[in-house]
Amino acid sequence: MDEVVEGVPVRMVLPVPAILCESCRMCCRFTDPSRAPWAVRVGEIPGFPAGFSAPRPLRLDPCPDSPDIPLEACSGLDRPSHRCTFWGEHPADCRIYPLLLVYRENAFRLVLDSDCPFSSIGTEAFFREQAERFQEDEWKALSPREMALLEPFARAEDRPHDREVLCLPDLRNSPARPDW
Ligand code: SF4
Ligand code: SF4
Repeated sequence: MDEVVEGVPVRMVLPVPAILCESCRMCCRFTDPSRAPWAVRVGEIPGFPAGFSAPRPLRLDPCPDSPDIPLEACSGLDRPSHRCTFWGEHPADCRIYPLLLVYRENAFRLVLDSDCPFSSIGTEAFFREQAERFQEDEWKALSPREMALLEPFARAEDRPHDREVLCLPDLRNSPARPDW
């Protein structure tokens, strides 16, 4: 269930310590555009899940911050402060990071991206709890069509070495929702 703060819906955000992100700053800038949030890459797909979308269209912009390594930055990023300009409404794949939604062996799964330093700091129980919260708050609210639209992105996201945290139910096969 979304929380509401001063009238603005705030969806689940995995609480990575701000001090760690401040020293890391790896998120929101990409050497590989295929690792950018799905909302950057989705283009105009009618019915793409709102939770995985951004409040405005996103793109990647050249980023001169690191001249030695070609980087592109998400247009939602305020570069001086390195903060998301619509934090709290940012896409689910950003909000649950370092959990990643992947499609592996015929199932949607949440895995842990070992590239994020916090992945080796947070406990197994913590990440499991966060994954279960995403499952209850957002995953189970998706329609079969929305899951079908997510599947190609989740397939492309999978890297075999990323450790599984939770296997999500594929509600496309559920008889419990006659509207599906
Ligand atoms: S990679 Fe992890 S620690 Fe680094 S900025 Fe992103 S969420 Fe924060
Ligand atoms: S949407 Fe926000 S959190 Fe996600 S990559 Fe862009 S700036 Fe970062």
